[in-house]
Amino acid sequence: MKVSIDPDLCIACGLCEEICPEVFELGDRETAEVIGKPEGHEEAVEEAADSCPTDAIEIED
Ligand code: SF4
Repeated sequence: MKVSIDPDLCIACGLCEEICPEVFELGDRETAEVIGKPEGHEEAVEEAADSCPTDAIEIED
């Protein structure tokens, strides 16, 4: 699994970090970033991608 965030789409809502803080971090940034490997967190990463209001999270198998 490969995960990335499109900074042009991210509106910094913080939902991905809330769902999977091991992989996503917003912090004080203007857009969320991928900070960890998705291995072992696949289900939460998929939930975050499904929950992202702007579909900014891209997952490749
Ligand atoms: S859920 Fe989507 S829009 Fe919200 S911070 Fe994460 S990537 Fe950005």
